[in-house]
Amino acid sequence: MPSPVYFGSARQCRLEAKETLPAKLDLILERLRVRERVKDEIVAIKMHVGNNIGYSTVHPVFVRKIVQAVKEGGGKPFVTDVHWDVNGAEERGYSSEKLGGHVYPAAGLGEKYFYTHTRPFKNIQEWGVAGMIQDATFLINLAHVKGHPSCGFGAAFKNIALGCMIGKTRSAMHDTMHYDRYWFAENCPDAETRQRIIATCPHKAIVEDKNKPDELHLHFEQCNQCGRCLQVAPPGSLKIDPVNFHAFQEACAISASIVLSTFAPGKAIHISLATHITPVCDCFGFTSMPILRDVGIFGSDDIVAIDQAVLDVSARERLIEENIPTSMEVHTREGHPFRQLHGPLKDPYKVVEYGEQLGLGSRAYELIDVLPVEEITRAPIGYVPAQ
Ligand code: SF4
Repeated sequence: MPSPVYFGSARQCRLEAKETLPAKLDLILERLRVRERVKDEIVAIKMHVGNNIGYSTVHPVFVRKIVQAVKEGGGKPFVTDVHWDVNGAEERGYSSEKLGGHVYPAAGLGEKYFYTHTRPFKNIQEWGVAGMIQDATFLINLAHVKGHPSCGFGAAFKNIALGCMIGKTRSAMHDTMHYDRYWFAENCPDAETRQRIIATCPHKAIVEDKNKPDELHLHFEQCNQCGRCLQVAPPGSLKIDPVNFHAFQEACAISASIVLSTFAPGKAIHISLATHITPVCDCFGFTSMPILRDVGIFGSDDIVAIDQAVLDVSARERLIEENIPTSMEVHTREGHPFRQLHGPLKDPYKVVEYGEQLGLGSRAYELIDVLPVEEITRAPIGYVPAQ
């Protein structure tokens, strides 16, 4: 049976507050029965509170509504994120006065409060789940939808997969992209050729290993898989391969499954706001121009269904190429706009495929519009003389 995903479009018909996104969030909270479900629960509202001077994270107006709903339902809410984003969160408007609830670093100020989970995957043996997350009895996964340089996009999965783990685990998750070999030094012993490979990348994605000059290192975040380096690299020396790019997405799915396993069934909901959709994630500490039109707000009990729905609905939008930073390059116009921006091997749909395989939910969903945008029919325009 398809999972329900509640949706409120960013579009409105009339110029009335009740047709805007915060009001549609209220409708989604009602449809998800948040107030009825949180009585006596310790509710972690996991969001990204941004960094530095970024201003496109979920606006406090939305967060406060969620905090308020939890309080009205008899729950004990707190807002949480990784410590280095919580430091300075007040400067971006995320203070207890504005939100109505405290903002805590998920694993403590020094990231020393966490629980270890053993689950081997590539270079990772143990995963460190932030203590405040595991101690909570109910999770509201509040995500901002945006692009991401490692995997194409970030929303519900990425918000908890990275944001509920300690820094050591987050680093190790990024390192999964390097686990499978992609550089074979034995097939390129010539230093001059290695320098030509490095020089050919316009995105500075290939660098020499500091300690071993015959080893090249690929910064996958910067690579858009344009293939220029492969035209210079001797056969068999360099691979630009899906296995490396998809590893991060699989790590995100595994991480999310570990986080969700710390909550009893029915004790997690997911809300994703797809507005001011930037090319890269909110960790960058600044806000770039939006690369897609605002899409709307989504809510579901099913993390797979909500990310699938976010991707499907946003796929109808055109990539706003004139808004993309000029250092970025679009060389394919196939597939999802996030894939067009970050390259064909950063297919944003991989994370929901892995998530479904892990039994976290269903890619089949029913999109339920909580307030469909009314279409107005008008009589033909008459002729009004200029004078
Ligand atoms: S594929 Fe393109 S972006 Fe990636 S490392 Fe090679 S030259 Fe650089």
